[in-house]
Amino acid sequence: MNWIAMSLMLVVLLALFAWSAARRWKLLMIGRPAARFDDIGQRVAGMLRFGFGQQRMPRYKLAGIGHILIFSGFLVLLFRSLVLFGRGFNVGFDLFVLEHGTALGDIYSFLKDLVIILVIIGVVIFLYYRLITRARRMTLSGEALLILGIIGVMMVADVIYDGSWFVLEDRAGHLELAFTWASPVGSAAALGMQNISEGGLRFLLHLGFWTHTSLVLIFLNILPYSKHFHVITALPNVFFRELKPRGRLPNMEDIEGMLEREETLGVARIQNLSWKSILDLYTCTECGRCTDQCPANRTGKLLSPKHLTIDLRDYLYHHEKQLVRRNGSNVAGAGEGSASTEDASGSGELLVPTTIKPEVLWACTTCRACETECPVFITYVDKIVDFRRNLVMEVGEFPSELQNAFQGLERDGNPWSFQAADRGAWAEGLDIPVMAELGEEKPEYLMWVGCAPSFDERAKKVSRATAQLLKAAGVSFAILGMEETCNGDPARRAGNEFLFQTMAQANIETLNNYGVKKIITTCPHCYNTLRNEYPDFGGHYQVIHHTEMLADLVRQGRLQPKRRVAGRVVFHDSCYLGRYNDVYDPPREILRRIPGAQLVEAAESRDRGMCCGAGGAQMFKEEEEGDGRVNHARIDQLLRTQPEVVSSSCPFCQVMLTDGLTDKEREDVRQLDVAELLWQSVAEEEQLSEAKAGTESAAVE
Ligand code: SF4
Ligand code: SF4
Repeated sequence: MNWIAMSLMLVVLLALFAWSAARRWKLLMIGRPAARFDDIGQRVAGMLRFGFGQQRMPRYKLAGIGHILIFSGFLVLLFRSLVLFGRGFNVGFDLFVLEHGTALGDIYSFLKDLVIILVIIGVVIFLYYRLITRARRMTLSGEALLILGIIGVMMVADVIYDGSWFVLEDRAGHLELAFTWASPVGSAAALGMQNISEGGLRFLLHLGFWTHTSLVLIFLNILPYSKHFHVITALPNVFFRELKPRGRLPNMEDIEGMLEREETLGVARIQNLSWKSILDLYTCTECGRCTDQCPANRTGKLLSPKHLTIDLRDYLYHHEKQLVRRNGSNVAGAGEGSASTEDASGSGELLVPTTIKPEVLWACTTCRACETECPVFITYVDKIVDFRRNLVMEVGEFPSELQNAFQGLERDGNPWSFQAADRGAWAEGLDIPVMAELGEEKPEYLMWVGCAPSFDERAKKVSRATAQLLKAAGVSFAILGMEETCNGDPARRAGNEFLFQTMAQANIETLNNYGVKKIITTCPHCYNTLRNEYPDFGGHYQVIHHTEMLADLVRQGRLQPKRRVAGRVVFHDSCYLGRYNDVYDPPREILRRIPGAQLVEAAESRDRGMCCGAGGAQMFKEEEEGDGRVNHARIDQLLRTQPEVVSSSCPFCQVMLTDGLTDKEREDVRQLDVAELLWQSVAEEEQLSEAKAGTESAAVE
């Protein structure tokens, strides 16, 4: 009888699951192609580390521990479920190496009992979050409670099954009932059940058995229709993650050709997403870690990365039939076996503004706090920029202030429309060679200055301090002067890919003409673009942030900080330096070397450091509506350390933090770049005369 019931259950529920999986597969295939089969070794290593190893989970300690307990329980109990399915056909079935009574079998049995306890603890932790603390970041749905209930009941069912099996085996004379370490939970349960009648035990044995096996299959069938689909898709999602440098946005090739062929630029409709982006939508666990760390969401903007994913996923599921049908007819028509063609992309509903509000997309600072947090490697910046690309290059609807920035970039090579001829004026009197004026012999380094450090009064001081430090250390370098233009980052992050590519190509031509190999820059946005994005266009350089260079020079003794400068200094991590490029230590190393400087850390620092609010072209537009400003929230965090100096190493951060201090009326706290502090400590008295004349002069002890 058992085998008939088991066969029926397996055939029906597995067939149902196969049907659901096929639906999800077809829906995945409506997406644009994405090349994610390169470097299999690195992909497998990442899957072992972040998938099986759950390395990102403990970033939220208790919830992370809860998840690790349940995940490891699932891995161990997978074998248990296979054994139980086998026993539906043969009551004595055991997986050969895990056979009851063998050494390996006893170890597995012990492990299985242990994880039952651990999984129950994990379930209790999640119930605590969902029912007691009701964590704001989580989606508090009945579905999650149902799944937790199923997991909990499965565990209890297993204990009941084991307990009754032990007692029945004892009564049959096959073993002697006693507590055993090989099965601590099962044998302990058996001792508590030893007075139950034979009939009662048989009933409990069947109850435990059928509850466990049927719930496994029911659970499997719920997955494709719930956020728990991640149980199946998380490992593949980690495997197929982006392996290119984090700071490199996906390149758009042949934009002019796309325009001629009337192909969609960026993402306008759901089928313009790649299959990997659709896999992201399937995989979101709705844990809310991304939204919890999002500076836009923290300051009351409409943007919530988690809800962006949920909205896209809901749209996808609600339009499943039309999307799959349309894709099917296109694939048949194309005859190329391509998953998606442009005909398919060109039809269907626009996602903006009905499904996704433009304010959501324009609130993103591209800080990557969400992506750094996501345990299953879901990405946001690429998707948001793809939406912006469509709004800017195809629809022509974007914040009006960006138009001024675009015009400035096109006409004058900087977003503020300063005269290009004045670009090198910041270096006046410093005697810095300009590339065009040099002969055949070129210096070792090019100092790539950037727009703000060339034109902004405050940032110009950082350029001067850096250049003076490099000179003091005897570094051979030159600048491009008026031949330099913006690297294009603001255009790219704002969605104007065409303008970015034009600027990148012009800059690369200039750099390659001079045979530039090594570049020093004070701007993390320039750093990221030159280092990570220019290689896609033929620009290959060793790019060094000024804090990396200066830390190295201090280490070598070529710069010797000697003067006491300030006391408590808190350092603010720039997103494009830290989260994008893992440069956290050099600025701190410099600060520690300055006599008298006491480096203090904000609770939110390094890869948890909050964005200043300027990235992603926010610098050139009004902040979206919310209940606070990002730079105010950030300066509040930094001020909690009671600093005398708020230090940074990015011209954009400098503007936002200085504004924050001014708005909070904290004139007692100074804002200085790491290079300025170092220069004040290194320079001779007479060299500081210029700084002393400036408004931001530091009081030197
Ligand atoms: S990149 Fe930053 S601002 Fe944009 S969604 Fe992610 S956390 Fe929010
Ligand atoms: S995107 Fe990642 S971090 Fe955000 S809710 Fe989904 S799984 Fe959690």
